[in-house]
Amino acid sequence: MSFESLGLMPELLQAIADQGYTEPTPIQLKAIPPVLARHDMMGCAQTGTGKTAGFALPILQLLAPQQSASPSPARHPVRALILTPTRELAAQVEENVKAYAKYLSLRSTVVFGGVDIMPQIKALRAGAEIVVATPGRLLDHVQQKSINLGRVEILVLDEADRMLDMGFMPDIKRILALLPAERQSLLFSATFSEEIKRLAGQMLRSPVSVEVARRNAPADLVTHRMYEVDADRKGALLAHLIKSRGMHQVLVFVRTKRDANHLMRELVRDGVAATAIHSDRTQGERMQALEEFKNGTMNVLVATDIAARGLDIEQLPFVINYELPYAAEDYIHRIGRTGRAGSPGEAISLVCSEEKRMLDDIERELKRKLERLPLPELASTRARAPRAHGNERSSSESRHARGNLHAVPAAKPAAPAAAGGFDFSKPYEPKPDANAASAEKAKLPLRSPMRRQTAALLGGLAIKKS
Ligand code: AMP
Repeated sequence: MSFESLGLMPELLQAIADQGYTEPTPIQLKAIPPVLARHDMMGCAQTGTGKTAGFALPILQLLAPQQSASPSPARHPVRALILTPTRELAAQVEENVKAYAKYLSLRSTVVFGGVDIMPQIKALRAGAEIVVATPGRLLDHVQQKSINLGRVEILVLDEADRMLDMGFMPDIKRILALLPAERQSLLFSATFSEEIKRLAGQMLRSPVSVEVARRNAPADLVTHRMYEVDADRKGALLAHLIKSRGMHQVLVFVRTKRDANHLMRELVRDGVAATAIHSDRTQGERMQALEEFKNGTMNVLVATDIAARGLDIEQLPFVINYELPYAAEDYIHRIGRTGRAGSPGEAISLVCSEEKRMLDDIERELKRKLERLPLPELASTRARAPRAHGNERSSSESRHARGNLHAVPAAKPAAPAAAGGFDFSKPYEPKPDANAASAEKAKLPLRSPMRRQTAALLGGLAIKKS
């Protein structure tokens, strides 16, 4: 089957060809015809299957008859609203929409929080038929009267399961109440809990169900492997894997923002070009981290689950779970970043004894065992503070790290062994900062009030899930 046979218009076919797509993916084959026929849809598809084009292409075709070359905002009312859970996903979806609409006179724009609202107000007032938004910021615009949702014909709820996980349900209900009752609605979700089904029951009318992967199933192209390793050896193992296997682009998952920052700093100290993405970083910092990772300046992106949701990084070869997620479903989302759009990928998990229960859950969810790999020789690596549980750190260490958020860029990509000046065959020699940190640690007992105060001042102690 070709894109032509799906009945897409020449302007879209040309844009698709420009993107280098040669044939539709399964979700596109299944979703495009019913969306074109104005059916509501309940789509079960994970990110990486090509679902964005699956809904964006037919939406553009449905809007095209009323396209207008007029500069007047009145000729460009909001006609399609696409809601996504995260800023990154919103930006990516809109980027795709723009690329597919390049030969049409349809405008799109994106609105999300964490950045100045004024340019968004300006863009909305100029008029855009397609608005991609995160729910909170969209409601800010509604309140500021910078957007009128009264002419929306098509609504898309993307990654609905994550929207619910992130507590967006009340916002979504508010938004639904602002839309015309007469509209086409599409709901996409990687998983279908009872709550999602309830939401679908409320917002969809006789929906066509479209499913491309087994429910809760990860992409087939991913190899799942794991190492059983003590928590305090994970850092050494990670650095070893990155270097010995010459990993040039690897997404590493941790559970909390604190762990993300901490691990990034450890990697940087070991000469690995690493950056981090999590919800405490500004939108600008997140965009920069993603860009540096995509363009190869940084070999490693350390991420929390929420920040990584919806990241579109083409042909990402490796995902490493430095810490397993609490919810087995998050494992599926994490590894959805690799094995995308036809490229094979490898998911490697570093599992310590405290994570056995999470591992059992994941294997039950996957309906298969992760392949156990023998632990490589990590001879002369330094002992590290237990990562997942060691939450206190010295002020000098933190100061060092704070000034270093985009630290130590990759002069060259991670190379096998001894890259970045770190030689595993030699005893570890601490760097000056590490000296200062350990001296401070030696001075102050772990639970001392002063250490606790310092840690609290730096945002430490309370372990929050990011
Ligand atoms: P998505 O699941 O929408 O995030 O898409 C995942 C990736 O697949 C994106 O990088 C798309 O550009 C790419 N993609 C979408 N459709 C196709 C296609 N028909 N052929 C090749 N790549 C595609």
